[in-house]
Amino acid sequence: MYTVPHFINGKRVATPGKQLDIYNPAEGKVAGHVAVADANTLNQVVDAAKQAFTSWSALSPLRRSRFLFRYKTLLEEHINELAGLITQEHGKTLSDAQGSIQRGIDVVEFACGIVHRLQGNYMENVATDIDSYSLRQPLGVCAGITPFNFPAMIPLWMFPIAIACGNTFILKPSEKDPSCAVRLAELCMEAGVPAGVVNVVQGDRDVVEGILHHPDIKAVSFVGSTPVAEHIFHTATAQLKRVQAFGGAKNHCIVMPDVDLDQVADTIVGAAYGSAGERCMAISVVLAVGDALADALIARMQPKIKELKIGPGDQPHIEMGPLVTQQHLEKVKSYVDLGVKEGAKLVIDGRDYQPSQHKHGFYMGGCLFDHVKPGMQIYREEIFGPVLSIVRVPDFDTALQYINEHEYGNGTAIFTGSGEVARNFASRVQVGMVGVNIPIPVPMAYFSFGGWKRSIFADIHMHGAEGVQFYTKLKTVTQRWPKGSFTAGFTIPTMG
Ligand code: NAD
Repeated sequence: MYTVPHFINGKRVATPGKQLDIYNPAEGKVAGHVAVADANTLNQVVDAAKQAFTSWSALSPLRRSRFLFRYKTLLEEHINELAGLITQEHGKTLSDAQGSIQRGIDVVEFACGIVHRLQGNYMENVATDIDSYSLRQPLGVCAGITPFNFPAMIPLWMFPIAIACGNTFILKPSEKDPSCAVRLAELCMEAGVPAGVVNVVQGDRDVVEGILHHPDIKAVSFVGSTPVAEHIFHTATAQLKRVQAFGGAKNHCIVMPDVDLDQVADTIVGAAYGSAGERCMAISVVLAVGDALADALIARMQPKIKELKIGPGDQPHIEMGPLVTQQHLEKVKSYVDLGVKEGAKLVIDGRDYQPSQHKHGFYMGGCLFDHVKPGMQIYREEIFGPVLSIVRVPDFDTALQYINEHEYGNGTAIFTGSGEVARNFASRVQVGMVGVNIPIPVPMAYFSFGGWKRSIFADIHMHGAEGVQFYTKLKTVTQRWPKGSFTAGFTIPTMG
């Protein structure tokens, strides 16, 4: 049994009082506990981050980047250790955990080159003998509140860019798998980043409320479910903080009749059931164009779904691990019960699957529904588990209409052999991240990540150029070095 502490001002900090259980989902047992910050601990961490901001923001961007170069190398050296922590508490396979950390390292790599992005503009003689320049300056203490499903990648979307821009950071990771966050912060210190620049505060909704109301926290980045994202957005903007809050998803992919179905079936199974469907970019709905295509696609996917290798994520050859908690497992299974009641055809029922050696782990098998209709709750709501719905549509236009009418707009994809159809889709679809013959179109670090509609409560996406925009504010200086004397002016100045 272990206890996960906070990480404040360069040190692990244990606090007495309330703690929460952490499960090992592969075995279904409590494996450890995580500390819960009270108001004093939150004040302590904000003070540390505020103090560190003065000297950190004054360092040249180039010197800050040099710490990030070292951090990138350390993350690469520790990728197996970090993946082990993720698998132990989240349940996903080690290879999937490693892949997700690599996507986070990509953001650190982008942050190493931040100097280029922090350059402003300069113009001589905007008026006679007057010059103007713009610059981007850091905000101060920023906070990140992250979900359980990517314990390394999502924090790494946030704090490397925040600190490269000169801010200091407080991370509040998910209480379900909090160990990785502490190591991420600790490795940052090992890379030479000064104490107080990256901190971790543990807890659940109470500490989040504290963050949202703390006057010294200037910006909040949030990733999690839509109801919480919406709450975070309204609460923190009312406190005049800068906020980006990302919510849930229901990612559709269209399959057109002109594709190589064997290949597409394989790809969809990976994108729907990888990480047990606990990905905000997982495909959860297939819009199959035409009955013949739907039948052929299901025939190809069925054996693959039934033969998924399910078990503890740390064992070799496992393709799908357990779900994160018993509570989440029951919620996902209850959606399958609901789908049956709503009249969808349950082609594969994985509800009772349990690996024989792991009787208490939070496992289920892959489930596949056919004949799902847009009015059904299993179509409208995010399930966040290994459950895929097939919706049969007569043509491309109907498929596009369904996607555009859905309340979520995180990711989507189309499988087609036609450039014309693909281009039409990419242009008209009302979704933030679009794949063409790519099932999970997560943008690379130097592009920006973010959905549309109720998958986002923000104007600015994460990482890439938009990440720099979020973590900096723009200042424009207009200057004159007069040779003569000033005269009083009582009308608005005009240039020229
Ligand atoms: P969650 O909303 O339950 O929790 C996210 C964070 O908010 C956690 O740190 C948690 O402690 C905190 N929290 C939970 N309830 C709260 C409340 N009532 N008030 C204040 N804070 C609260 O999400 P989760 O279950 O950890 O993660 C899964 C969800 O995240 C899914 O909906 C998934 O689609 C979404 N997600 C979205 C993206 C994206 O980029 N859009 C990426 C990953 C995950």
